[in-house]
Order: sequence, then C-alpha cells, then structure tokens
Amino acid sequence: MFVSENLAVNEKGNLTIGGVDTIELAKTYKTPLYVMDEGLIRQHCRSFKESIDKYYNGRGLVCYASKAFCCKQMCRIMNEEGIGLDVVSQGELYTAINAGFPTANICFHGNNKTDDELTLALAHGVGRIIVDNIYELHRLDELAQKLHKKPNIMFRIKPGIDAHTHDFVKTGQIDSKFGFALETGEAMEAVKEAVALENVNLSGLHCHIGSQIFDIDPFVLAAEVMLDFIAKIKSELGYEIKELNLGGGFGIKYTNDDSPVPYDRYMEKVSEAVKAKCKAYDMELPYILIEPGRSIAAPAGITLYTVGGVKNIPNIRTYVSIDGGMGDNPRYALYKSKYDIVCANKAGEPKTETVTVAGKCCESGDLIGEGMPVQKLEVGDTLAVLATGAYNYSMASNYNRIPRPAVVMVHHGKHKLVIKRESLDDIIRNDL
Ligand SMILES: *Cc1c(COP(=O)(O)O)cnc(C)c1O
Repeated sequence: MFVSENLAVNEKGNLTIGGVDTIELAKTYKTPLYVMDEGLIRQHCRSFKESIDKYYNGRGLVCYASKAFCCKQMCRIMNEEGIGLDVVSQGELYTAINAGFPTANICFHGNNKTDDELTLALAHGVGRIIVDNIYELHRLDELAQKLHKKPNIMFRIKPGIDAHTHDFVKTGQIDSKFGFALETGEAMEAVKEAVALENVNLSGLHCHIGSQIFDIDPFVLAAEVMLDFIAKIKSELGYEIKELNLGGGFGIKYTNDDSPVPYDRYMEKVSEAVKAKCKAYDMELPYILIEPGRSIAAPAGITLYTVGGVKNIPNIRTYVSIDGGMGDNPRYALYKSKYDIVCANKAGEPKTETVTVAGKCCESGDLIGEGMPVQKLEVGDTLAVLATGAYNYSMASNYNRIPRPAVVMVHHGKHKLVIKRESLDDIIRNDL
C-alpha cells in the first residue's frame, strides 16, 4: 500500500520506516525532519551492483550521483558498498574527500567547471573527469600540464534521445546545455583534439538522457548510439574508447501511478545491446559505468512535518499548513512533482480527505502538493511526505531564513543523526 517497501504501520497505528516508529523520531529530533533508511539505500546499491555482475561479468562500476543526496555519511555508505561517486561541484567533491572516499572512483561532472574545481580534482587524483565542452578540454589540458598530471577524461555526448520526461530534467536531446552534439560533428572534432593533447587521456564517453525514466528502450537506444560513435572513432581515427558511461535517470515510485521496472532489467537489456553492437563491429566490450542517483536515495527517505493549521475554504479546497515547505522540498514548486502523504500518527486509518499541503514560506507557490488524499488531519498531527530521499535535502535552501532540517538515518531498528539541524546562528554565520 505504501510506495516504498520499508514503510509499514505498527500496533499503535503509527507509520514506521525501516521498523522505526516515525512518531518517536519526530519526538526525539523535532520536525521538520528528513529520515533515511540506510538498509534500503544499501539494498538498492547492491541490486545495481549485482545486475552488472550478473549480466556484464562485473565489468563495470556503479557510481552514485551524489547530487541526489550528498553528505559525509552517504559517501561512507557508498564506499562500504563498493560504489563509485559522481560529483558535480567542488562542494560535493570536498564532501567526498572529507569522508575519505577513494577519489579514483569519482566521476567529476558539470557543464562549467571552474579552474578551482578542476584544480581540486587534479590535486586529489579524481578518477574520471567528464569534459563537457571544448573550452574545458583545453583549460584542463593546461592545468594538468602545470600540475604534472594526466587525468582520465570522458566526453559528455548528447546522443539526441528524447526520453519522454519533464522538459526541465530532459538532457539528452540536441537542445541542451550539456555536452557535445553528435549530429553536427562537434563530438568527433572534440575527440580528434583530445587525442592530440598530451596532458589528458581520453578513456571514455558519457551520456545521460534524463531523469525519472520508466522505459528501458531509450537507455538501450542511447547505448547503441554511443557504440556506433565508438566504432566510428575507431575506424576514422584508429583510436579505441575503452569506457562507456551511460548515466542515470532510472524512475522511482513517487505515487501508486508510477510503475518502475526492476533495476536489473535495465542492465540485462543494455548489456545485450552492447554485446550485440561490439560483436557486429568486432570491438572489445567497453567497461561500463552507470550513475543512479534518485533510484538509490529517493525511495529510502521520508520527511516528517507537524501540522500547524487546517484551513477549509468551502467549495474550493483545504489547505494544510506544515512547519516546512519549499525550503526543504522545492520539487513541487519547480516541477509539479507528485508525492504521497500519510498522517504518521493515524497511518492505519483510511484516507478520507483531499488536501493541499502548504509550506510556511511567503510564496503562494510554496506547496508540497495539491489534491492529495490523506487521513483527517488536525493541528499537532505528524504528516509524512514519502519518497523524499533524493533532491530534497540536496535542493534545500534558507529562503525566509528558515534553517534546514536535520537528517536522521535508521538502520537495524536504530536511529542516528547524520546531518544536524541548522541553528539560528548558522543562519547569520556569514553575515558581517
Ligand atoms: C543527475 C545525473 C545523474 C543521476 O540522475 P538520477 O535521475 O538521479 O538517477 C547521473 N548522471 C548525471 C551526469 C547527472 O547529471
């Protein structure tokens, strides 16, 4: 009945996550509160990893896209699971380095990396830098020469695939700020230039076709397009591309309308396509990287809020005001993203009401959702928003100078704080 398998109702009628009573968590840590289930995070890491073992002889690396949810504890968990990391900024890289993450297993992305960012990546021996454009290629070559490094690079390619998802998160088509286009010859020109440079080693190609994708076909098509290009590079330049990074974007269940495919089906189909193409072109199988973000973090997380008011506007709608909002979850305001909600202290009762959940910011658009079925709510109830483990904490802001909530992880029936709640002093910390 719940969107994530780790959620249940206990004998008190309270919502539990990973076997831990959410009402106890709300009392212990206060609200708003992000709660993540470490067991489910690890389970999803393993299912991606096992799919590469099973369908591709283990010749690949799963890199968690840390932008989905990044903190030191998350980096430690990924390292323990033998998962690599994908970072897109100095801040994410710095977090990983501070968590003792092995930098050889880090992929560094971004469409406009600064010299400071590239320098940090070079100084720490980041395993793969995904080069987005020709300016970055030349800047990186110069910086590498100065620092006496020779980084492995991959090129971000636009394979031109429409993955039928929300326009804001669609990044594979030609009209995108990310990467080199294939059709125009831009990508081939860049490969020629990279091969001639002395301070970078072009090891692979990368693509990422979008996010929250439920079909396997666009992923298979993207892999085929990339292999056609790898074959073209080999025949035209005699240069062998050894690695193929196929990005992330696997859909998750936000509401019961979503039906994601089991993640191992993805590797099964993609590896079939890769093997067939390599056979047809008489090429060696590339080492494969995949970059799930949302699918590892989102289902593992929920957010707990306290209801502060219920405003019924007759014949129009009922607003339920919570003690958080767009500051801790901007996804409805940004993308009209859908969520399921549950009254955590009445989780066993039927959902008889339909409400609009409103945040506390000075913005009419500060909503978590509209037309949401839920139990009858009263002031003081604890409201749980489900599947908020990805792109919530990581997208949180201090709008209206509201401190960011704490993040707690539950595991084996226990709970621990992994990110402290911001204090009012944190809010004024940089004010002079
Ligand atoms: C965002 C992103 C991902 C992860 O996407 P999800 O939809 O969270 O799986 C992977 N790779 C790149 C390059 C990205 O930008």
